[in-house]
Amino acid sequence: MPTASADTPCFSIVIPVLNEALVLPALLARIDGLLDSLDGTSEVIFIDDGSTDATPEMLSARVRADPRYRYVQLSRNFGHQAAISAGVDLAEGQAVIIMDADLQDPPEVVLELVAKWRQGFQIVYAQRAARRGESRFKRWTAHLFYSGLRRITSVDIPHNVGDFRLVDRRVIQAFRSMRERDRFVRGMFGWLGFRQTAVPFERQGRAAGQTKYPLLKMVRLAMNGIVSFSDAPLQLALWMGFAVSVGALLYGVYVIASALTGGHGLVAGWASTIVVVSFLCGLNMMLTGVVGLYVGRIHAEVKGRPLYVVNEQAGFDPVARAEPEPAADPFGLPDALVDQRRRLAQFAAR
Ligand code: UDP
Ligand code: MG
Repeated sequence: MPTASADTPCFSIVIPVLNEALVLPALLARIDGLLDSLDGTSEVIFIDDGSTDATPEMLSARVRADPRYRYVQLSRNFGHQAAISAGVDLAEGQAVIIMDADLQDPPEVVLELVAKWRQGFQIVYAQRAARRGESRFKRWTAHLFYSGLRRITSVDIPHNVGDFRLVDRRVIQAFRSMRERDRFVRGMFGWLGFRQTAVPFERQGRAAGQTKYPLLKMVRLAMNGIVSFSDAPLQLALWMGFAVSVGALLYGVYVIASALTGGHGLVAGWASTIVVVSFLCGLNMMLTGVVGLYVGRIHAEVKGRPLYVVNEQAGFDPVARAEPEPAADPFGLPDALVDQRRRLAQFAAR
């Protein structure tokens, strides 16, 4: 069974927050209750994803008052999935728990997740048995998305599961090596494998404040899920191209045959020409767009920017948990180039 040493916490609770001042008092009270009932030392890491309300002040005050709390402020809004990743990068616990700030993920459920972890499971995800406070539209689109995604990917991404989960340290280490830019965290954990299990829970409505996932952001997350975990859209492009070519070939045969037999006036057929040409143009653009989605991702990866940028952090042990040092080279050259430059300098000095 995993055990914590004296100075590292047993549990790390990672909570991304964006403008959650309305819900924070209730959240902090519930988290305090949870910490009291957890059978081990814990740390709570809040990742402030560019809040513009009173969230930073409220959290900083808590960090000053209670050594179990830590606060990380990102330099701007990097998005929920990047904020989770920032928290996971800094978490030191034997088990890391990821949850939302709005109390839709009830802190008390964490005790059940921990019980499963003690039984030897390495990823314990909380599965929504009921989803209160969510529109029928959201539930329906979520269902459609996950059943579609399961069909087109070989990665096992469970149904009705968000990012609320407990993850063992060993899995966290593997997760940290996955630095892809467009992140779909729940899919990444699915891809990793390990011993996984589910704990059902009743998802409540948001305790206060407004959702930070408007429809457009939701669609973007869904697109990320599809493009990151499947090349089905590319295959679809190929098959559609193939089907349309076959159709065009058959139609061509018909057109030539009717021209030869003189059964079809050569000048007539304006409507069919327009229909066919515009249909093919539309299809072409759409399929180029699909390819563009993947090319865009390659572009983002090639730039190699960090996943998030930290502005400020508080509550961490300054020695053990300094931010990772920037590259030793003042010009930010990659290691291989720095090495090469050093060798050249040595050569010149000889
Ligand atoms: N969140 C974040 N950055 C964002 C959007 C959301 O850190 O860009 C946080 C938010 O504060 C909350 C969690 O992610 O703790 C989930 O967001 P929300 O509850 O608004 O999403 P919903 O449950 O409506 O899908
Ligand atoms: Mg929510």
